[in-house]
Amino acid sequence: MNFRFESLTDSPIETQQEKKIPPGGSMKKKSESLLKQLLESVSPSGYEGPAADIFREEARGFADEVIRDRHGNTMAKVEGSDGDLRVMFAGHCDEIGFLVTHIDAKGFLWIAPIGGWDPQIAQGQRVQVRGRNGVIPGVIGKKPIHLMTPEDRRNVVQLKDLWVDIGAASKKEAEKVVDVGDPLVLGYGYQKLAGHTIAARGMDNRIGSFVVLEAARKVAKAKQQAAATLYSVATVQEEIGLRGATTSAYGVDAQVGIAVDVTFATDHPSQGDAKRQFNDCELGKGPVLTRGPNAHPRLFDRIVKTAKAHNIPLQISAEGRGTGTDGNAMQLSRAGMATAILSIPNRYMHSPSEMVDLRDVEHCIDLMAHVVLELEADADLTPF
Ligand SMILES: [Zn+2]
Repeated sequence: MNFRFESLTDSPIETQQEKKIPPGGSMKKKSESLLKQLLESVSPSGYEGPAADIFREEARGFADEVIRDRHGNTMAKVEGSDGDLRVMFAGHCDEIGFLVTHIDAKGFLWIAPIGGWDPQIAQGQRVQVRGRNGVIPGVIGKKPIHLMTPEDRRNVVQLKDLWVDIGAASKKEAEKVVDVGDPLVLGYGYQKLAGHTIAARGMDNRIGSFVVLEAARKVAKAKQQAAATLYSVATVQEEIGLRGATTSAYGVDAQVGIAVDVTFATDHPSQGDAKRQFNDCELGKGPVLTRGPNAHPRLFDRIVKTAKAHNIPLQISAEGRGTGTDGNAMQLSRAGMATAILSIPNRYMHSPSEMVDLRDVEHCIDLMAHVVLELEADADLTPF
């Protein structure tokens, strides 16, 4: 989710009997290994190549066509029976990160943020720098607590004062493996936790690109062909301003769109009174559907009905303006797209340990596939 928009979504529920999913998640091994690969790719905004390539290779196994546009958006196209109706799914495949802005005489790398960072988080972390010969490890430097003055301890570090140490002895040595402009991310991979939960950096929003990929696979393998042609898009550069959704929405020119992102879970101690703003949003209680001006009312109702009909749990959030998701750009594309926003409840957004529940991921995939498969060629797409 994009930080600059500040407006965010969340929400409570409307739960039906949950599907029976055994502990450990229902996700098949192959699917989980794909998710792990996606989450561990070093692909911040503008440098999405590795994540986009994984998406493309996987899509080639089932899609009628796989397209990459000039901006880097990668699309899995699944043909429908009606030539004119197009649905776009968007899951941004970038994540927040940094890039190298300067290599100093001693071989330290000075960096600038890509996307919305909390500077408190970065200090002392391991990083992975994607250099010209591959990914190299480093650490973000930190003054020891012993040497910090009382004032140091009160002040929050500035992002511009962060440096990366790759252990190089000089600028010359560092330049053998790193160039100015190389991207880096925090060095955290995929971790299974208790129950159905997993943690990783970049869950925002590699998880969304995974959902749209798997939903397209379901539609492609369904017994009955959908009326609509589906474009499942791994969009780029969401974290720096919904940029890939802007270009891909224009290119696809769909009448209906669903953006998938993560949203703020309000079920953990740091959230305080967040429920007043984001409603009850719990891990494991289903994907979150947004209501408000960024959501097409008739499509919203349709998705609620579809979830009920298939016994898929759904939580609801409300937001009174354009959201910080690809759904914002999609709705405003050309003469307007009937847009819905589905989100996976997420704890600790924009930290190295973003947590989600695999049941919510599975339910979101199922729900999106049903929505496309059941959309009639002559569906009423007026909002009210
Ligand atoms: Zn984000």
